[in-house]
Amino acid sequence: MIDCTGDADVAYRAGVPTEKGNADGGMQPPTLMFCLGGVDTDKLRLSIANAPPQARTYLTDFIPAEYFGQNHQFIVVGMRELMAKAKQERGLQIPNERTIIITGLKKGEVWINMTRVKDTDGTDARSLTRGEIEGRAQIDDIITYLVNYVPGFEQAYFTKTAPFLGIRETRRIVGQYVMTQEDVLACSHFDDAIAVASYPIDIHRPADDGCTLIWCGDCYDIPYRSLVPQKISNLLVAGRSISATHEAMGAIRVMATCMAMGEAAGRAAKISVRGNRTPAEIDVQELRRQQLERGVYLRNPDGTRAPAAEHAPAA
Ligand SMILES: Cc1cc2nc3c(=O)[nH]c(=O)nc-3n(C[C@H](O)[C@H](O)[C@H](O)COP(=O)(O)OP(=O)(O)OC[C@H]3O[C@@H](n4cnc5c(N)ncnc54)[C@H](O)[C@@H]3O)c2cc1C
Repeated sequence: MIDCTGDADVAYRAGVPTEKGNADGGMQPPTLMFCLGGVDTDKLRLSIANAPPQARTYLTDFIPAEYFGQNHQFIVVGMRELMAKAKQERGLQIPNERTIIITGLKKGEVWINMTRVKDTDGTDARSLTRGEIEGRAQIDDIITYLVNYVPGFEQAYFTKTAPFLGIRETRRIVGQYVMTQEDVLACSHFDDAIAVASYPIDIHRPADDGCTLIWCGDCYDIPYRSLVPQKISNLLVAGRSISATHEAMGAIRVMATCMAMGEAAGRAAKISVRGNRTPAEIDVQELRRQQLERGVYLRNPDGTRAPAAEHAPAA
């Protein structure tokens, strides 16, 4: 069986040791995404692209201004000073330091990633319910900020929320290997790598309104052993609940990495079943060989891309 619940629900109930949160038990806060229509996204992007360098209020955290001059679909992450000004002037309750806007599929549509519900446990129904209510309550002040301070939002109107809170962090299994912050930041290579990722450590901090973002400068491997739980022999775990510390999980939790892990776990399960071996017993080099046959991006120990195997693709 493969547990891709995001919460390690199967592993936890089967008795696999799991952990939650940082050293204080704090987990990244969830976000109720919501959607606005009527946004002049060209005005928004050009206000950033054309802002003089000293106009710090429009600065984005790490995306260069030129990006906004060229792209009609874009993401804004930053505008910290503008938001601080709005909070001060209007007494807005927005538990977030950053403005995060993502253009949607329709003209004038944007998705807002700014609500932030601290102290929510995504594995606890009561806590989730409280989180949904709190997430909705935060939307009004965020819209007041956007409409009154951010260029292009003057005519914006609310259209919809996501169907439920987006959960960033819950349980992580303790597996055969626990990935760490050091592994990510050292761009580590593992002999049993089943995926390569480059997303930074991105932690929406549990205890305050800020975010920690640390890049490794290149990419790092995900070891197969982090998908293999302790104690239960016929189980693999893929996605954000693999065996990693709170910090490493802050990096491996994104969609592309989770999908790569899921694909690897599926192939590992096939090898396990056909070879009548437990997931812990399979030949990981055979798994890697099959992955390479299917065009999966894996690395050599020197960091270069491993060549695709020469065999015909496996079924
Ligand atoms: C607000 C927010 C914004 C984000 N933005 C980005 C972004 O821009 N880019 C990016 O790459 N990542 C982003 N992420 C992170 C990313 O979306 C998740 O970390 C990632 O999708 C986790 O993948 P997963 O497969 O582990 O879990 P999930 O994608 O959560 O999939 C788990 C699935 O299992 C199902 N499930 C759960 N429990 C059970 C059960 N008991 N029985 C049956 N089914 C069950 C769920 O319904 C779900 O379909 C964001 C996350 C949040 C919360």
